[in-house]
Amino acid sequence: MDIFSEKEEIDRTNFGRPHCFLLGAGASLAAFPNGDKNGRVLPVMDNFIEVLQLEHYLNRAGYEPPYDNFENIYAELSSKPEHKEIVSELEEVIYQYFEGMELPDEPTLYDHLILSLREKDVIATFNWDPFLFQAAARNNHIKKSPKLFFLHGSVAIGICHNCSLKINVHALCPKCNERTQQSRILYPVTEKNYTDDPFIKNEWDAFRHYLSQGYIFTIFGYGAPVSDVEAVKLLSEAWGKPEDKSLEEIEIIDVLSKEELGNRWEEFIHTHHYRTPENFYVSMSSRHPRRTCEALWECLMMCKPSDEKVEIPKDASFADLYSFINPRIEAEKA
Ligand SMILES: [Zn+2]
Repeated sequence: MDIFSEKEEIDRTNFGRPHCFLLGAGASLAAFPNGDKNGRVLPVMDNFIEVLQLEHYLNRAGYEPPYDNFENIYAELSSKPEHKEIVSELEEVIYQYFEGMELPDEPTLYDHLILSLREKDVIATFNWDPFLFQAAARNNHIKKSPKLFFLHGSVAIGICHNCSLKINVHALCPKCNERTQQSRILYPVTEKNYTDDPFIKNEWDAFRHYLSQGYIFTIFGYGAPVSDVEAVKLLSEAWGKPEDKSLEEIEIIDVLSKEELGNRWEEFIHTHHYRTPENFYVSMSSRHPRRTCEALWECLMMCKPSDEKVEIPKDASFADLYSFINPRIEAEKA
């Protein structure tokens, strides 16, 4: 059988359709298992109250340990006008906790992810943390990053309403020199509203637009919890019906079994057109950096699979990582 060689893959840059990535909480956890640069850890819903030390606020509102899941408590609190003050204090504490997070100095999985996709590609995230935005910013001198969308908002994002720009929350608007306004972050209520806030609505509209054109859709670390029924519905409408997706591919990066994941994402998958790598480094982006769509096309349509020897060097320094990726970036310029 003919093989799509590494050399051919590097030289092939003809695909215009995007590879779309969706990141859930599991992606940030996989990228930052030990927390941020200063050891500040990422909470999960089950330890959210303890990690962010919210006990004092909850006690004032009449909650005693053992606490229910934070999502349930927050939903209840925010529906009661008498707790308005405590709710806004809680929101401020949560915002500050995430805003204080910093990328570790060495390359992280998010740097690898950003470098493994092209500007035509898209990453949408449900995570509030600033890591994806910071990783894009620190690699932007190498090549413009894929497009990023923050479906629940992000503490990294500031908005200039004069110029409709989203930029680093700490920077002044490069066009009008005004201070930006913090992006809303969507707190964990059961029925999330994706249309009230203009910024969040724009992020959704843009991601849905790209997803409708996507050739590969990778879902990374997102379990589609029952509280996200509305989100999954919006994504499914944008991606389209499985029967119309005979050329496209779904990739789910998750440790669960292929069968289990196939059932969970059934409404997105055309027959057997899906794969379930157990971690990022054996996923398509790591095996075919910046060439995922080209490699998939060669494999499925031209019957020319790759030999699957490439893998993003997980432990390399920035210098070595850039040497690894550079031939691909040079080929894109040519
Ligand atoms: Zn401006």
